[in-house]
Amino acid sequence: MASAGTLGFDRSADIVVVGFGCAGLAAAITAWRAGAEVLVLEKEPADAHTPSTRMSGGMMMATTDVGKATAYLDRCAGGMVPRDVSEAWARRATGLIDWLLEIAPELNLARVGGAEHPEFEGSDAFGVYQPGGAKTRLDLNGKAGVFLWEKLAQNFHAKTGVPVLWDSPADRLIRADDGRIVGVETTDGRRIGARKGVILTCGGYLHNARMKRDYLRTWPVYFYGNPGNTGDGVRMAQEVGADLWHMNQMIGRAIGNFQLEDGSDLPVILFLNPPGYVITDRYGKRFADESAQANLLHGFYYHLLAYDPATGETPRNPCYWFFDEKRRKAGMLTLPSVGAHAVGIYTWSADNSAEVARGWIAKGSTIAEAAAAAGVADPAAAQAEVEAYNRACREGSPDPFGRPAETMVPVEEGPFYCVKLYPGGSNTTGGPRRNARAQILDTRGQPIPGLYAAGELGQATGMLYPSDGSNLSEGFCFGQIAAEAALADNGAAA
Ligand SMILES: Cc1cc2nc3c(=O)[nH]c(=O)nc-3n(C[C@H](O)[C@H](O)[C@H](O)COP(=O)(O)OP(=O)(O)OC[C@H]3O[C@@H](n4cnc5c(N)ncnc54)[C@H](O)[C@@H]3O)c2cc1C
Repeated sequence: MASAGTLGFDRSADIVVVGFGCAGLAAAITAWRAGAEVLVLEKEPADAHTPSTRMSGGMMMATTDVGKATAYLDRCAGGMVPRDVSEAWARRATGLIDWLLEIAPELNLARVGGAEHPEFEGSDAFGVYQPGGAKTRLDLNGKAGVFLWEKLAQNFHAKTGVPVLWDSPADRLIRADDGRIVGVETTDGRRIGARKGVILTCGGYLHNARMKRDYLRTWPVYFYGNPGNTGDGVRMAQEVGADLWHMNQMIGRAIGNFQLEDGSDLPVILFLNPPGYVITDRYGKRFADESAQANLLHGFYYHLLAYDPATGETPRNPCYWFFDEKRRKAGMLTLPSVGAHAVGIYTWSADNSAEVARGWIAKGSTIAEAAAAAGVADPAAAQAEVEAYNRACREGSPDPFGRPAETMVPVEEGPFYCVKLYPGGSNTTGGPRRNARAQILDTRGQPIPGLYAAGELGQATGMLYPSDGSNLSEGFCFGQIAAEAALADNGAAA
């Protein structure tokens, strides 16, 4: 039988962490604190490292009461996550803010909000925190994920000295004859031994077209997170017999996707506010209260998944966002502190004029003209729909989709604009099935010895996003849990 000692490793550590984002950092720091020798493998080079954690808004969810928070998370999961997994998260999230401030006191985390579904039992046990002394939600002040990551990574490197092997994509897991995962092989053939466990924290399948088409509920679908998150962890775990869970789920909203000169996609988070917006389907018809999308909540995308079996069409994928000159002048259509703009992948123009010139934002002297330029199938219907909406705004009539009165601002100051929106968002949540101890499970529900995961790779969320900051919270919490479990299961550090 091949033992770990005879497998010919180029280098070894107690714990090997695959992927350096929030989940990888949490796993690595936890194992290091316990005295383990830790090694991190990161796919991207150090000078082009854009984990979704760094691209993010930096908002973090924490809890104050384990029982209440478990009940709430369980309801949001909609049966897709066992209750004990939700409980493990709820418990760990009670100490999350202190844990982060211990690593990086300069984060200056401030409470800016709470649960996304305040009507659900247990919602009052949640707090959402933002770094950089923010006062309100989305008060990003240039101190979003870039700031969060910079402070955490600086402290991590300075305090732990844990090596990060940059430009080192993990390609396959190495298994001993007794079934235990004992290492990782990189794409260039280096064999890295893991004496006490491999922790996969390499993100979702945001940029893997085949996986998205096979697993998600609609197509096309785009994500504005790290270009390096291509589902490698899903494949590696499958190869050693992992079961998968909630592959059809994502943290979604409507987003932009544009083509760059070289033909590559540029997925972008778009910001509808300030009010003066209408979204229609491809036939020019409104279909939902757009303020949920404008306020960057996470339920609007469910409306975009509709499929018409009579025509074989997805009439709301894409859908079409109409606005006027007042909105164009009010600020960037994207949030400059997050996503591609924040990490230098694409610099969006301050007045949106460059994106109008590129044709990403279609323009017209009437709504119908802008609609035709964007590809709406019935531009006259779109014109009529926006006129009806404008009338309702002026008359103060209740909106048929229940849109709040204060958001009913007419779209009336030409020229007019239209942008195609697609279902997408920040991340996928499917991946290898795991238990409350972050162990990856095989298709018979048994832990695969030596293999753990955390973060958006098989994240412990289901139907509804619990609150702003839940992705980062999940990664930080289960990263800690995974490292503790790996050391407990396989012999604590020497
Ligand atoms: C614009 C934007 C805004 C967001 N805002 C928020 C927010 O405010 N709050 C919140 O909670 N969530 C937010 N999210 C989502 C959140 O950022 C992510 O879900 C979370 O950061 C995921 O953490 P992670 O550690 O799992 O993955 P990541 O942070 O993406 O880290 C994964 C790492 O693994 C590396 N990797 C990939 N494949 C391999 C491989 N084969 N070998 C080695 N390394 C590999 C990647 O290069 C990457 O560095 C946002 C996301 C985006 C894009």
